[in-house]
Amino acid sequence: MTKKTLLWLQGLSCNGNSQSLLNAENPSFYEIFSKIDLIFHPEISYKEDIEKILNKVLSGKKKVNFLVIEGSITTDKRFHRIGDFSIGDIVLKLKDKVDYIIAAGNCASFGNIPATFTGNPDVKGLQFTFKEKKGFLPPDFKTKSGYPVINIPGCPMHPAWFMQTLIALLEGREILLDEFNRPKELFMYLSHDGCIRNEYFEWKAEAEEFGHKEGCLFYNLGCRGPMTHAPCNKILWNRISSKTRAGMPCIGCTEFDFPLKENFFETKKNMGIPEEVPLGVSKRAYITITGVAKTLKNERVSKKLEETD
Ligand code: SF4
Ligand code: SF4
Repeated sequence: MTKKTLLWLQGLSCNGNSQSLLNAENPSFYEIFSKIDLIFHPEISYKEDIEKILNKVLSGKKKVNFLVIEGSITTDKRFHRIGDFSIGDIVLKLKDKVDYIIAAGNCASFGNIPATFTGNPDVKGLQFTFKEKKGFLPPDFKTKSGYPVINIPGCPMHPAWFMQTLIALLEGREILLDEFNRPKELFMYLSHDGCIRNEYFEWKAEAEEFGHKEGCLFYNLGCRGPMTHAPCNKILWNRISSKTRAGMPCIGCTEFDFPLKENFFETKKNMGIPEEVPLGVSKRAYITITGVAKTLKNERVSKKLEETD
């Protein structure tokens, strides 16, 4: 059977998602690309020059099943150029020829850091620019497969998120997407789900410093776990940990508004109440529940872990 093909291109990018992908396990990078033909990757491939590949694809001599874009999109060649084209020019040429377009990482999904650069207002995500469905491609754009751009955000994305999505598509399984075109199977979870600090969260036991084993980082240190769609505490990083397990707040890197928040390590409050409360909870319910939790002190969570019985 002929192998499916994957073409990986980069726009305005730091290569972080490629670095992340190289750390994939089950399947590893090498395992997946023994099943799929990686016809080009700017840092990894060696077989053929990108301009020759593009000519073959455009003349119908080569088929691309998966077009993966890492990095935000611009048509300004002062900021990005592949041969004689910008990344935007190439996406326009290829968009109707491929089965799937996958946005690898937050830049390709939502614009991310490059889209905040005021020196180039022409920077977008593939189909979104931050919250707006005003990305580089039209809001109703779909590839030949009937899917819009499939967003795997994250800064970087977790390699398993990409692999699971790619394998599902390869096997012809249906993928449900959320309102930001992220696979629901992965992004219906919050990074708060499965965090080992949930007990501290429930009892409003606050962490005052980074890196400690005790305390929840939501109340003072800006943790966005309860508002961030990401399975970071379900599919762990390097199979071992996550930011919040290690005592660092989630900074919401899988969301459309990353990195627009002003201070990542501080919880903005109004009269002691966080400006943003966990998803699905009204401010009123939040105040009631946290008030009760604070009054009914849990002795165990107010101690250092080593001091508990
Ligand atoms: S540290 Fe963050 S993710 Fe963990 S329980 Fe607290 S709010 Fe949730
Ligand atoms: S924990 Fe939050 S900031 Fe860290 S990788 Fe997951 S979504 Fe991104």
